[in-house]
Amino acid sequence: MKINLISDTVTKPSPEMLSAMMQAEVGDDVFKSDPTVNALEEKAARMFGKEAAIFCPSGTMTNQIAVKVHTQPGDVVIADKFSHVYNYEGGGIAFNSGATCKLIDGEHGRFTAKQAALAIPPNDVHWPQPSLVVVENTTNKGGGACWDFDELVKIKQLCENHKMAYHLDGARLFNAIVVKKETPEQYGKLFDTLSICLSKGLGAPVGSLLLGSQEHIQKAFKYRKIFGGAMRQSGYLAAAGIYALDNNIERLAYDHSRAQEIVEILKALPYVSIIEPVETNIIIFYIPDDVDEDQFINKMEELDILLVGMGDRKLRMVTHLDFTDDMLTELRKRLMSVKF
Ligand SMILES: *Cc1c(COP(=O)(O)O)cnc(C)c1O
Repeated sequence: MKINLISDTVTKPSPEMLSAMMQAEVGDDVFKSDPTVNALEEKAARMFGKEAAIFCPSGTMTNQIAVKVHTQPGDVVIADKFSHVYNYEGGGIAFNSGATCKLIDGEHGRFTAKQAALAIPPNDVHWPQPSLVVVENTTNKGGGACWDFDELVKIKQLCENHKMAYHLDGARLFNAIVVKKETPEQYGKLFDTLSICLSKGLGAPVGSLLLGSQEHIQKAFKYRKIFGGAMRQSGYLAAAGIYALDNNIERLAYDHSRAQEIVEILKALPYVSIIEPVETNIIIFYIPDDVDEDQFINKMEELDILLVGMGDRKLRMVTHLDFTDDMLTELRKRLMSVKF
């Protein structure tokens, strides 16, 4: 039995989701005539209380389109040093938008309004124009940490005072919403634009949504075309997204409780040195100095346990919809049986 904890993106559509996809009514979405894509966009916009939404092939694309919508070449984007938009999108902020980044030294991918205020350059001809603040909830490289909503409200105030746009990279926002008992509406109200991934914990095979005002999404429609992300009968994919929003949000709590069970297993292992605080479905832990990371990962692979090495003996496991209870039992057995 292979136990794949590399990411919550490794899931495959369930028979029910596949059936919804097969039965989708489709059209050509470039002409806005795919009824299922239109239904998904309307559903998501309504959920978050935003005017409009646009369905894109990936979360990278929704973030990159948002950056393009909110910036001009030469502008500076303020984000955390761990942020996905800076670290894991191939330098897209520079490549696609000609903008630069000011990174904040936050905690588990989160920062305070005070830190954000210090990151704003002076209003003077020498400095780049700060036009956008990006926050990520939950944080990916920060180990699935959730933000304190009050801090997000303070950062919003700062954005308003300095006429900066406010974008949420909510690839895993539903994980935070479930843990903190928050609502999509409160996030919709706070942010100018939001990215939501359907292909992470929600279990769809493909797709992300960008949400915003009518004006923002009209611009996004143009940029999605330029970035090569306008698809044709994408209703088959959108149907999976609708199924995911209807069925797979509340169950994220189950992924979180199983992440806690893995934490309990790791605590008992002599070859695990530090475990980062786990709030959602991402578990980050360290192995001691005398254990080689590559050797460790290879050994895990031999045991049919797949995880991610993040460098410097930092390792990551992510629980998800296809991680069964039998796998959890097996994982415990296999991890207890090995020595380093
Ligand atoms: C996964 C992820 C994305 C987008 O990823 P894609 O693989 O391009 O869909 C964006 N932000 C965060 C925080 C992510 O974890």
